[in-house]
Amino acid sequence: MKKIQAIRGMNDTLPEDSLLWQYLESVIKQTLAGFGYREIRFPIMEKTELFKRSIGEVTDIVEKEMYTFLDRNEESLTLRPEGTASCVRACEEHGLLYNQTQRLWYMGPMFRYEKPQKGRYRQFHQVGIETYGLDGPDIDAELLLLSFELFKKLGLDHCVELQINSLGSEAARAEFRNALVAYLQDHKDALDEDSQRRLETNPLRILDSKSQSTQRLLDQGPSLEDYLDTESRQHFAELTQLLDACAVPYSINRRLVRGLDYYSRTAFEWVTDKLGAQSAVCAGGRYDNLVAQLGGKATPAVGFAIGLERLLLLLQAEAELPALKTVDVYMAAVGDVQSAALGLAARVRHALPELKLFMHCGGGSFKNQLKKADKSGADVALILGEDEAAANTIAVKFLREDRPQQTLSQGDVIDLLAGLIIKN
Ligand code: ATP
Ligand code: MG
Repeated sequence: MKKIQAIRGMNDTLPEDSLLWQYLESVIKQTLAGFGYREIRFPIMEKTELFKRSIGEVTDIVEKEMYTFLDRNEESLTLRPEGTASCVRACEEHGLLYNQTQRLWYMGPMFRYEKPQKGRYRQFHQVGIETYGLDGPDIDAELLLLSFELFKKLGLDHCVELQINSLGSEAARAEFRNALVAYLQDHKDALDEDSQRRLETNPLRILDSKSQSTQRLLDQGPSLEDYLDTESRQHFAELTQLLDACAVPYSINRRLVRGLDYYSRTAFEWVTDKLGAQSAVCAGGRYDNLVAQLGGKATPAVGFAIGLERLLLLLQAEAELPALKTVDVYMAAVGDVQSAALGLAARVRHALPELKLFMHCGGGSFKNQLKKADKSGADVALILGEDEAAANTIAVKFLREDRPQQTLSQGDVIDLLAGLIIKN
């Protein structure tokens, strides 16, 4: 019978890779905790309408990338393509935005029907960070500082670059959009095919175009910068001053617009040249209009999302990783000593909760068990034979050091292993 395989673009994470995932997730959580952010969790599915209304009908995501289906009750549901809309929905539903500020994060799978390739999948993972109720450039700067801290902790700051821009107020953006469309209409034939289509649907996205001829055309056209309203200009100037003061390196990219409809003012991306076309590692910006657009009271908001698979690819290629292991100590049990071995293992684990102690099961020769101990990556093998069990001792074999085997009392072995934890 033909075996059933996973859905294209949706990956399994096997045990040898999950250690790196856990490492990445723990550094992220530790960084967020250091900034006092709180976790929020919400379902991976929402009513389709939520994404249509927030992300925008004429975006790539809503037009082409959503996993949308009817449930048994004929209701249209969608697997979340991103987290911001759900986050706003959940906050509104539970009154979290009423008379208070919020600094939140979430982590989990997102779903987009895209062409799978390296760094681009149909189920991928993001950590999203969202803040509400703060309209000044200080919170924008904090978010950028937070992301920079994270890249530093992961040892990736040398291979990512921050680009920032201001999209201005909604009115300023609309005015610029009109000027851009008018200009490009006159030069439509010189536009690449994608951009011609976007001229009708989402003209700002043309600024993102990879086509050189389109980019040359844009050089001669209207510039978003000239259309910025006074407040947005001021906001952006203060943001850059704060980034300078905090020594967060950045460059200004006046063509950075982001694909979603809901952004205003600050927009940014951390990009890398190490992942080919999948260059965006982290992206976000201010979205002061979204809460009201979804029916809530107008609430300033700014946030970003990091693609974890891309970060992981960067980690594997560019970072010096700490030793990641599942086993510190391998306990071998030779002869009729199972109950003594289980009892000792339990006492060691109880005394040293951080130690990773792997208990051999299934019997076998001394030689065979030691081979497995070595393969497990453990630093130390504890060997319990019938003689040791009778004398309440245990033999300690050092697997990664040139150090003679010792036989210790079971109390002393706990002290020795405690030292091992400190060393690691
Ligand atoms: P891209 O331009 O690469 O399609 P995007 O603008 O669609 O990215 P966002 O919606 O801003 O991406 O999502 C934030 C981050 O999530 C991206 O910077 C990227 O790291 C990651 N990401 C987005 N789509 C995918 C995907 N299909 N597979 C893996 N990671 C993704
Ligand atoms: Mg995309």
